[in-house]
Amino acid sequence: MNGEQMTVTTLGVRGSVPVSGADFQEFGGATTCVKIVAGNEEIYLDAGSGIVGAHPMRESNLSILLTHPHLDHMIGLPFFYGLSEKGRKIEVYMKKRNGLGVQDVLRYLYTPPLWPLGVFDYPADVRTPNVWEEFRIGQVSVETMDGVHPGGVTIFRLTYGNASVVFATDFEHSDEKKVEELISFSKDCSLLIYDGQYTDEKYECCRGFGHSTATVGIQIARKANARRLLITHHDPECTDRMLRQMENEAQEKYDKVRFARCGETFTLGK
Ligand SMILES: [Zn+2]
Ligand SMILES: [Zn+2]
Repeated sequence: MNGEQMTVTTLGVRGSVPVSGADFQEFGGATTCVKIVAGNEEIYLDAGSGIVGAHPMRESNLSILLTHPHLDHMIGLPFFYGLSEKGRKIEVYMKKRNGLGVQDVLRYLYTPPLWPLGVFDYPADVRTPNVWEEFRIGQVSVETMDGVHPGGVTIFRLTYGNASVVFATDFEHSDEKKVEELISFSKDCSLLIYDGQYTDEKYECCRGFGHSTATVGIQIARKANARRLLITHHDPECTDRMLRQMENEAQEKYDKVRFARCGETFTLGK
C-alpha cells in the first residue's frame, strides 16, 4: 500500500442492536465498527458486533477508539481476536462518561455474572491512555469534538498524510451551535461518516434519542465540503429494500452520498 493512503473498512453499520435474516443481507446486521489502516496503525472506531471476526495484522499497532459506551458500540469487544493474542498491546481510548473512565466502564460491563472474563484478564496487554482534545496515534493525528447524544459522545477526526475521516455516529442535530461546530470540524475532510438512523418523518417521533437523518448529513457534508459522505447507524427496523430507497432519495439530492454497507473498503489519500 502507498505509505500515505488510509483505508477505511465498515465492519458494522447497524445502530442500536444487531439484526439478522434475509432482509438484512445487503447492508448487514452488525453494529458499529469501522477499521482504519494507516501505515503501521490499525485503529478500530467502536467495538460493536462488527469487530467480531476482524483479524488484526501481525505487525500493526492496535488501537480502539470508543465514541461512547452504549452497548451497541461495545458488545463485540470480548470477541475481538486481538484480545486472545498473548502480550499483544491494545490501546483502548474513551472519554469519561457519567464520571466513569474507560477502565471503570470495561470492568463494569465485562465482569461475572454478566460475562465470565474481564477484558483485562485476556492474554492481550490492554492499556487505556488518556484521551486529550487532540493527540497522536503514531503517524495518525486524532482530533475530538463532543457530540450531542444521551450520556455524551465523542466525534473523531483522524488525519494521515492528506487523508482525513470524520466519524460522527450517534449525533443528534438538535443544537444548531453543535451542527455549526461539526461543519467546521469536518471542513474539507476526505470522508464524513454520519449518523442517519432516521428518515425525516421518523425523526419527528424520535427527538432526544440522539440520532440524526441523511438529510442533515447532506447539509453538513455540503457546507463542510466533504469529499464523500457515508450514512451509518441504520435503524434495526430498516430492511435492505427500505435502505436502498432512502439511499436513492438521498442521492437525488446529493451525488456524493452512500449508505454504508458492512464489509466495504474505501481508500483515501493519494
Ligand atoms: Zn449507537
Ligand atoms: Zn448511543
